[in-house]
Amino acid sequence: MKNILSLLDYVHSLSKTDKELFSRIYSVSGDLGLLKVPKDIQPWVSSKFGSVEVVESQKIIRVDNRITFESSLFNQLRAKRPIDTNNKTDVESLIKKTENDPFCKPLTNTPRDSFGRVKGKQSISASNIAKYDSHHGLIIFKEHNPLKFSLSSIKDYLETAQKWINKVYKLNPERKFPFIMWNCLWKSGASIIHGHMQTVMAKEKHYGNIEKLKMFSDVYTDLFKADYFNDLFKCHEIIGLGFKKGKNKVLAHLTPIKDKETIIIAKELNDSSKTIYKVLKAYMKMGVRSFNVGIYLNPLDNSWKFPVIIRIVDRGNLSDNTTDFGGMEVFAGTSIISSDPFKIINNIKKEF
Ligand SMILES: [Zn+2]
Repeated sequence: MKNILSLLDYVHSLSKTDKELFSRIYSVSGDLGLLKVPKDIQPWVSSKFGSVEVVESQKIIRVDNRITFESSLFNQLRAKRPIDTNNKTDVESLIKKTENDPFCKPLTNTPRDSFGRVKGKQSISASNIAKYDSHHGLIIFKEHNPLKFSLSSIKDYLETAQKWINKVYKLNPERKFPFIMWNCLWKSGASIIHGHMQTVMAKEKHYGNIEKLKMFSDVYTDLFKADYFNDLFKCHEIIGLGFKKGKNKVLAHLTPIKDKETIIIAKELNDSSKTIYKVLKAYMKMGVRSFNVGIYLNPLDNSWKFPVIIRIVDRGNLSDNTTDFGGMEVFAGTSIISSDPFKIINNIKKEF
């Protein structure tokens, strides 16, 4: 199986045309981190990492997106670790303990928007009590346990989110920049365990990362007379990190924001539920229990047109007391990654 530490070899073996395409967007460099392990801790180092040598000379791969400045560092020691599927926390019983929370009775225990609520078969909207932005909705799942999702429930949640967005836009046409997110369990920033997505609508301009992506993809089109998202996918496909399924493209991101980032590029939101479901199913099998899903949607007046970009990222083990975002991610803008995108894409492919 391919691995991220050999990425440079894979790039070198691409055809001239593919290499040229890959290098438009990505640069890859490899380095060694050298250190000396004192005798006293050598047994511990060996048991933890397999050998002293592998720690004394660590291979590090850096991948940069030349267009968007996203970048990630992959360390051999971290990437070599098997995917840890053991969540020490008994998540299921913790989730069960919080049953009968306000989201279990949304009609009486959550605020509604001034226009009322939108409903699906398996979800209902509410108005967020402490808003990020003036239009901030919740899509509350009928099912309390956020990990008990199905293809039909995800489809329903997204349809309800879309209905909420359409409703807000109809009543407030200046609110034309929608974003959907799903923070699942506490490592992802979710303050309520009960399953829910959130919807926000910006006016005047889209949210920061989406505006940036718009600007960078325009620059790309100016430079290369090509579509950035098509080429982003092709870069992943030629290296073995992307595949197409129906109208969706799936890729294990070369510059993940954090571990196991997958991007789905879809034509329309309503074509994407099956793919989102399958990716999340693969995540569950890899032991992921806390994740963020973020969905970049076009301005509703079609003043510019993107594909629908769905980003899914693992937020780490629920029993860890540390957060996965440290100074590198918060300030330096280069993410430290422990997962290997090649392992991720292989696991995802099994679901398709
Ligand atoms: Zn509940």
